[in-house]
Amino acid sequence: MAIESSTFSPHRSGWEAFTLLRGNELVRRYPFLRDGAPLRREAEWVGILRAGALPGGAVLADVYESVRTEIGLALEAQGPFDGVLLDIHGAMSVLGYADAEADLARAVRAAVGPSCLVSASMDLHGNVSRELAATVDLIACHRMAAHEDDDEARQRAATDLLRRIDGSGRPHKAWVQVPVLLPGEKTSTRLEPAKGIYADVARVAALDGVLDASVWVGYGWADEPRCRAAVVVMGDDPAVITREAERLARRYWDARDEFEFVAPAGSYDECLEAVLASDARPFVLSDSGDNPMAGGAGDVTWTLARLLAEPAFAVPPADGGRSAIYASLPDAEAARAVADAGVDAVVEVRAGARVDDGPQGPLTLRGVVEHVRLDDPVGGTVCVVAVGGLRVILTERRRPYHLESDFTAIGLDPRGTDVVVVKIGNLETELYDMAEDWMLMLTPGGVDQDLHRLRHTNLGGPVHPFDPPEAFGPGPDLTPNLL
Ligand SMILES: [Zn+2]
Repeated sequence: MAIESSTFSPHRSGWEAFTLLRGNELVRRYPFLRDGAPLRREAEWVGILRAGALPGGAVLADVYESVRTEIGLALEAQGPFDGVLLDIHGAMSVLGYADAEADLARAVRAAVGPSCLVSASMDLHGNVSRELAATVDLIACHRMAAHEDDDEARQRAATDLLRRIDGSGRPHKAWVQVPVLLPGEKTSTRLEPAKGIYADVARVAALDGVLDASVWVGYGWADEPRCRAAVVVMGDDPAVITREAERLARRYWDARDEFEFVAPAGSYDECLEAVLASDARPFVLSDSGDNPMAGGAGDVTWTLARLLAEPAFAVPPADGGRSAIYASLPDAEAARAVADAGVDAVVEVRAGARVDDGPQGPLTLRGVVEHVRLDDPVGGTVCVVAVGGLRVILTERRRPYHLESDFTAIGLDPRGTDVVVVKIGNLETELYDMAEDWMLMLTPGGVDQDLHRLRHTNLGGPVHPFDPPEAFGPGPDLTPNLL
């Protein structure tokens, strides 16, 4: 079960959020288990259930519990098994649960019994409590952010699982948490210090006596005691894995103040000032605090309300103003009303802040309908409303705008527009390539990049950068637990 869900977002992830795969359809989801792949032939693979979702708010308890029950019953009914590949993200928040992945791992363990090996493959933005690490037999995560290597990491988890089933059984695990919690946008593995740390992970994984090594950045948008960085080194030489896990943890801790945003970042005012002083076109701004792909509700109106009040966008370029696109604001009722009015109609609708009205309430959108699409597979009804030089994309459902074709499909020309504002964190590749310049805009919302503004209260002990240096005394104890 894989989702990244923010406890700071009022959005709730229900059944509609999840895509369920079972049986052969599930087995074929993994490139390394398709017909002809070597791993496919080494074992008989049974697809139990995978419930995967786009990031969102916390998962409804009954949805999680139904998935957990089905997984448990199917494991019992179709077993016995020699091993389980547990494909989890690690940042699933479920209402009423403080450590959902450990709970799920316990349920899997209860269903398969003590002799079956369970290998967990995770996202490096997941959290690893002691209980999760202790409940499974193998645990690892991918090493790249952006996640170009996610299936590669799952393949490694599956390969290690088969190797241990056939040979030496359970490895030792050296587990240690590092009391540092950073937003993903500060920990790109393309840049130092994360780049060097993850290069070191690969080096450690190749040492004699080591099966695999992993460093988790953790997930900053949940308020749970497990949320922080973690290190696990697995292998058969307890001395080596303990030494290396402590060394990686120390390296992460020592680098804690060196992590920077991957792009120029600034407040709304700083970003607007930069945009209006620049000739770069398009200048892309990420409205990052409400990024639906990190768990934001998507309908925060804070940034759009400011753009609508910005004199530079009040009139189109022909009349001396600047052009801008705002992608996007989901509001089913408003999208329907605008679609019903039809292209060229002058509309006035209240929109947004139905799910997340924390930073700002609904706003009034008054403009001309430029485009209506009724059948967008993700967004449902999608409309473009022109307000002066600003084109606002209004959607029935949350929908990411990461590709140039997302814009051109609804009659917009992002390359010919001065400013393109997208609800995203770091730019996805196509946006990045298209942007003549860009800034990460530190806006409020359920996935605010300024973690201080979220006011965590359940981290259970000092965590950098929330607590002052003196809270850590002479420094945190980074001695690994041998599990
Ligand atoms: Zn991730």
